[in-house]
Amino acid sequence: MLMCRDLAEIASDYIDGELNRRQSLTVKMHLMMCKDCRTFIGNLRASSNLLSVHSASRPDEQFLRQIDERVAEALNNRGTKGSEPD
Ligand SMILES: [Zn+2]
Repeated sequence: MLMCRDLAEIASDYIDGELNRRQSLTVKMHLMMCKDCRTFIGNLRASSNLLSVHSASRPDEQFLRQIDERVAEALNNRGTKGSEPD
């Protein structure tokens, strides 16, 4: 039986159509019973559509800057965490 947290893990694959037939059937059955996950998938699908529309058109400068900041942040975190001398 698929749990909500299991569904959350594969939700993006489900939306992208990357699950096999049995997996997507399991997701659909869960969605029939679980209102929370229906809302979750709906929101995810909406934002996923937004993203693909976004990347299809000209990339927004602020959007790219946000990604740059995320990357820089991640690199900084990694740098401080594993700061071993060469
Ligand atoms: Zn659920």
